Amino acid sequence: MKKILSLVTLFIFAMGIAVPTFAEAASQKLIQPINNARITAGYLNTNYYQKFGFKHYGWDLVSATTDRTVWGSGKGTVLATGYDNILGNTVIVKYSQAYIHGTKTTKDVVIRYNHLASIKVSKGQSVTKDTTLGIYGNTGKYSTGAHLHFEIDTDTAYYQYSPTLGTSSNIIKAGTAGTVLSPKNVLYTKNSSPDNQQIWIVGDGYQSSTEDDLPIF
Ligand SMILES: [Zn+2]
Repeated sequence: MKKILSLVTLFIFAMGIAVPTFAEAASQKLIQPINNARITAGYLNTNYYQKFGFKHYGWDLVSATTDRTVWGSGKGTVLATGYDNILGNTVIVKYSQAYIHGTKTTKDVVIRYNHLASIKVSKGQSVTKDTTLGIYGNTGKYSTGAHLHFEIDTDTAYYQYSPTLGTSSNIIKAGTAGTVLSPKNVLYTKNSSPDNQQIWIVGDGYQSSTEDDLPIF
């Protein structure tokens, strides 16, 4: 039996089919968290920095429709949830083996979601792209309107550390910027059913003109 299996394996390799091993699972493509999204503030936008006085290490998104659902971006595990005294209702999800199309590498990442109106998942829960993580809102100390702020970070060991905070809060801690990625280098737009995703920039200067140029998945 063992001999037959190894012959089959050899045959599959000979056919050029990639077979995931136990040591290295297949990478996954992460999709945008809001289906019909508008980018209202881009990654490290210079106009944003001049106006607000701090660097923007993520994206701000709103929905072009009345649907404010924040979806999972792929297969992941919820690491933390709760009300952060500065950043509002927060969810942190770890996504293993995410394909970073901007650098053609595969990495484990966490996504930190802030300012949620409500949280729909709990710590330890497995999620997929079809899981509602929460509803975006206007919670937290400095949020000035309903939107989703999220950050993508490869430092999965210190997932609660964000360069956005200069002083640690109860959930999110003051961190460094070196491991944070631009969402444009990571996310895909899934334009097929049932997600039917689209993404556009708002175009008021707080985004780069190509920031909505995500690959289609
Ligand atoms: Zn933001």
